[in-house]
Amino acid sequence: KLYNQVQDLKGSIRVYCRIRPFLPGQVSSSTVGCIDDGNITIITPSKSGKDGRKSFSFNKVFGPSSTQDEVFLDTQPLIRSVLDGYNVCIFAYGQTGSGKTFTMSGPKNMTEQTQGVNYRALGDLFNLAEKRKGTFVYDIAVQMIEIYNEQVRDLLISDGLNKRLEIRNNSQNGINVPDASLVRVASTMDVMELMNIGHRNRTVGATALNDRSSRSHSCLTVHVQGKDLTSGNIIRGCMHLVDLAGSERVDKSEVTGERLKEAQHINKSLSALGDVIASLAQKNAHVPYRNSKLTQLLQDSLGKMTLLQFLVHQTIEYNLHCFSLSYINVLTGGQAKTLMFVHISPESDAVGETISTLKFAERVS
Ligand code: ADP
Ligand code: MG
Repeated sequence: KLYNQVQDLKGSIRVYCRIRPFLPGQVSSSTVGCIDDGNITIITPSKSGKDGRKSFSFNKVFGPSSTQDEVFLDTQPLIRSVLDGYNVCIFAYGQTGSGKTFTMSGPKNMTEQTQGVNYRALGDLFNLAEKRKGTFVYDIAVQMIEIYNEQVRDLLISDGLNKRLEIRNNSQNGINVPDASLVRVASTMDVMELMNIGHRNRTVGATALNDRSSRSHSCLTVHVQGKDLTSGNIIRGCMHLVDLAGSERVDKSEVTGERLKEAQHINKSLSALGDVIASLAQKNAHVPYRNSKLTQLLQDSLGKMTLLQFLVHQTIEYNLHCFSLSYINVLTGGQAKTLMFVHISPESDAVGETISTLKFAERVS
């Protein structure tokens, strides 16, 4: 039984695949063959007649008709653990146009029903904090940054794109970006307002042909501090909600100058992220966090319970019944949970990118 539970630790890195529906008016054949709960088959067309098929398995596959509500339902438990002192990372990975921003934020003309994970996550944290009011007092604050060409910028101030920020490691707060604006939030309205500011600051100077948002990573970081009113203990948790740069490979013969530099930076940081998650999944002793700004920033939020942490957790949960989760975190120095949404486009002419996205995802799961 214990063996099975140790195997379950793999659960602390989860990978969900989401398939974008065809857009209105789009005419194309679909590359997606069959989907069931955790499996997806991709049809790879061949000129010589017989189409190929490739299957992939993930923790969950969301088909084109999945709603934001359904997607959130499977994300909610992870988000809630932030209030218990876990560090959580949620990523959106995929080629430009595959639905990353839709999953994390929502579409351009958003309604309550089409709100993405970011808004729902914060809303859920506010509700839960309110429910626990008698036993805990929570303080929730957010930062919003962008990583572009391996430089970190603040998205919450209007001239933030002009100033590079440093990632620091400090014994009390762990890895952080101390100079990025940190804003306390108390309602979903506050969050909406900040996200709008962040979005506006990011699009300043961008033209239709120069859509910076697909070539930089944006990260909404939620810092939670809770005070246990009975014991006086403080728990800290943090959640990174990351809309990654487009994963598509650019043809080196076609781009030059600035565009080539951007592509190289994206390529480097996405493969660094893949390497880190893959080595965590394989329980390697050495995890190469230093290879990109993104992995440096997320260093203490990526990872999984060590066996020791797991055993302590089990002992406390099942035998003693008397310690709170916050105490476990004091004992073990924090735990991390990671969720990667990999997005694919359904069009058959995207099949090359789709296969490479799914291979990336398979490697980290
Ligand atoms: P990305 O951020 O990966 O570049 P977007 O999120 O901007 O992609 O999605 C591209 C387009 O597809 C947008 O117009 C978006 O509203 C639409 N879209 C993406 N995913 C869905 C979905 N699950 N349902 C409906 N429309 C979607
Ligand atoms: Mg986007």
